[in-house]
Amino acid sequence: MKKPVEFSQVKAQLDSVSPTFCIAKWKQVTLHLHNGRTHSCHHPYPHAVSKAELQNDPSALHNTEKKKEARAQMLKGARPAECQYCWNVEDLPAFKQGEIFSDRVTKSSESWARPYLEELKNSDAKKNLNPSYVEVSFSNLCNFKCSYCSPVYSSKWQEEIESHGPYNTSAKFNNLEYFKSVGEMPLPYKSPNPYVESFWKWWPDLVKDLKVFRITGGEPLLNENTFKILDYFHENPQPQLELAFNTNGNAPQKLMDEFIEKAAQLLSHKKISGLHVFTSLDGYGPYAEYGRHGLKYSAWLDNINRILTAMPEAQVTIMCTTNIFSIPEFLKFLEMIFDLKTRYPGHRVTSDINILRFPHHQNLSILPDSLKTAFDSSLEFMKSRKVEIEHLSSIPGFSVFEVNRMERMIQYMKSGPSRKDKISIYHARADFYKFVTEHDKRRGTNFLNSFPQLKNFYDLCKDSV
Ligand code: SF4
Repeated sequence: MKKPVEFSQVKAQLDSVSPTFCIAKWKQVTLHLHNGRTHSCHHPYPHAVSKAELQNDPSALHNTEKKKEARAQMLKGARPAECQYCWNVEDLPAFKQGEIFSDRVTKSSESWARPYLEELKNSDAKKNLNPSYVEVSFSNLCNFKCSYCSPVYSSKWQEEIESHGPYNTSAKFNNLEYFKSVGEMPLPYKSPNPYVESFWKWWPDLVKDLKVFRITGGEPLLNENTFKILDYFHENPQPQLELAFNTNGNAPQKLMDEFIEKAAQLLSHKKISGLHVFTSLDGYGPYAEYGRHGLKYSAWLDNINRILTAMPEAQVTIMCTTNIFSIPEFLKFLEMIFDLKTRYPGHRVTSDINILRFPHHQNLSILPDSLKTAFDSSLEFMKSRKVEIEHLSSIPGFSVFEVNRMERMIQYMKSGPSRKDKISIYHARADFYKFVTEHDKRRGTNFLNSFPQLKNFYDLCKDSV
């Protein structure tokens, strides 16, 4: 984490170009190659890549006409509408007083962004350029169908919805007709994909400018392109580049073994500068297994231990999208993380507690007040193990950032749904009942056997139908 003083310096530098200038619009991109969409940064809604533009230049995966318009607006001090996430923050008095910073400032402060400020400030907005931070999804191929995910990112979800149709919630959860209507349906994994082909055409030129390359999915370890990337780095070392993966940590053992072996070699021969594994887990043991269908908790934990043991340079972030299925025994989830922090010191293991906003029926803010104290003891556990940033390399503990994320999640839950989220608690509770009932029927699970602690809430939801 950078100190606030550095953020204020970067803000002043950005503002000297224009009050809306953001380096992420040029240098950071997520490429959804499975459905031909892109965005810079990840906050704006992804938009379609033009196949015609790709024919002339594969960097059109990033340099779309829409992004060039947004860059031109930023250079002139106008606010691109797609960046409303940041403008909401920048309209707050606390931003104007320098007490908080928007992602426009924090992202532009990163080592993959800030060095490019001088070069970009007088640049031609129409010019094509290479990003320095790329996140890529090659396909939606996945062995999980997590409760809040969708067919766009999970082939298992896609198969289920193709066989059984959408869930019978008020908004027809995971309705394929909706995804088709907005152009988000993934291309079939085995069929020719012009976006993946363009990516590989661009790759030899792109890779030389990369500082961070992150592979997501689907589950990236199921995709052959992931191993093609690892093999490429063996043949063509990129010592300037940090490689990152979003993995569910439960790929078949053979693939997990191959990944660990190849990545460990890249690190030990310094062919990449670092490896960061991001893995999702939203709660403890059997509760996490219900919410993340396909998860085998003990195998996941074994794999995380293997990664941390085989690669002493690797870092692991456990991302928790906190939702109703996270509630029971959340303290045990944090104890497991603290145990990993203790076993692998040097702040190699971090938590990232996020808030699930959608689908509404899993949003914590629809809980009755009696359940909204469920995380209080977990917060106390984190606070009692909070370690200042300068000591984290020698003392295992939770950073201020990690504790703040937990506090933010609890505040969100306790203050009820925000107006922006437009949640009707009554409808969301009815949808929760409909969702778990259908989930149990389709997937052979049993909500009440798995979550006896939530029986009163379940009855409340049933009464809302
Ligand atoms: S202004 Fe904000 S939303 Fe827009 S690209 Fe920058 S960080 Fe992302």
